[in-house]
Parts: sequence; structure tokens; C-alpha cells
Amino acid sequence: MAKTKVEGESNLILNRDVLIDNDLCLSEAKNSLVLFRNQYISVNKVMKYKQSDLPAKSEIFSYWHDKFHEINLFIDWGEPSCWACGFHYNAKYDINNVDAAWENILKLWDKIPLQRCHIVPRSLGGTNNPNNLFLMCKECHDLAPNTNIPDIFYEWISTQNHLKREMKKIQESLESFNLSLNNMIEIEQVIKSEDFNTWVKEGRIGLHFPQNRYASRSWRLTTSTYVGLAVYYMRNIKQ
Ligand SMILES: [Zn+2]
Repeated sequence: MAKTKVEGESNLILNRDVLIDNDLCLSEAKNSLVLFRNQYISVNKVMKYKQSDLPAKSEIFSYWHDKFHEINLFIDWGEPSCWACGFHYNAKYDINNVDAAWENILKLWDKIPLQRCHIVPRSLGGTNNPNNLFLMCKECHDLAPNTNIPDIFYEWISTQNHLKREMKKIQESLESFNLSLNNMIEIEQVIKSEDFNTWVKEGRIGLHFPQNRYASRSWRLTTSTYVGLAVYYMRNIKQ
């Protein structure tokens, strides 16, 4: 269970995920160096460190697991999701056995492709200790504030919501095709129809590696692909 579940979540979001081959959810990038991209702030020097200098994700989870309530977070131990936006990767990372041993839960947290993000960046004196690290999806990692004031970070994470973010992307895509959220029901009906799904699978869909690395998954349909196809189908193909 993600911490941020919204009532009446969109079928459009759910269907978009169904069309993605779950196995395409790639593991975390294996790049051993992380560069702090401070090109806009010349006073901060670019720092390099090895990913291996960071504690394992299970150590970070172990540190935080009984402290989430202190920062008003609810994290389900058995369904790992982003600690900021609540993005849930894939049921294959879930623990289904309610009596699972603690060591199995820890193993699960090591596998999930969340990233280890500093609360206070290294460049501002933050440490690599678990108390300065947070597990988040790529998109949140890129969007999170980088300051030496942890409260700014905590306030930011408390307002992130994967479904709302996706809905915003859908709204923007609809507007690109001269439609609005008012057309959602119509579009969702198209997307749920068997005819549309047969039509898109006739080689009309492309998985795209997001250039800005902002997507929560490595390979996925861009929102404009999905919305664009549905709108095109609705206008030109549907009888
Ligand atoms: Zn996230």
C-alpha cells in the first residue's frame, strides 16, 4: 500500500500500466558514480562518491522503519513504494506472506529499484549515514529539494503524490490534443475497449526511454503516446 492513495484513481493510469510489460521494469542503474549536478551554483563543488559507500537499502529501511510516524509517513513494509510519492513498482516486489521473517523483508527492500537519496546533500555537508538517506523513485530523487535544512525536505516529501503527478501529465497531454479532463470518461471508454487494444497492438505503440530520467520506470509509455493514440482512435477509427 502506498502512503498516498487517492480516491477514485484513474482507470487511465491503471490501464496505461497494464499495457507495459512488467518485466521491463529495469533494476536501478548500475552506474557506480553519482555526480552532484551543481552546475548552476558555482560555489558548490561537484562531488563524486561510490555507490558502494552508501549503506544498503535494507539498512536505510531498518533505520527508518520505526521512525516513519515521526514524520507523518505511512510505509507498508510488505509493499515497497517510493517514500515520497508512494509510487508502487510492481507486485513482484511485494511480500505476500503475512508471517514473513524480518530477514526476508530486508531482502525485499534491497531488491526494490528505489534510489538512495540524501536528505542533506553531500555537497552541503550531509553524511552517508542511514539517518540522512531516504528511499525514493527516480522522479522524486530528481525533483527533491537540495538544501541543508531537513525540514524543507520533509515538507516536500509530505506533499508528493504519484497519482496526482500522473494525472497532471494526462491533463497536459489531453490539452496538447485540444481536449481537457472533461473528456476523460470518453477517453477511458476507448482505452478499455477491446477494439482499441487490438488496434494499438498492431505495432502502433513504442516504449520510450525517458530522456530526462524523470519517469519512475526505466521504460514506459509516455503519456502523450497513450493519450495521443486514444484520441486519434476516437476521432478517426471508432465507428
Ligand atoms: Zn516518488
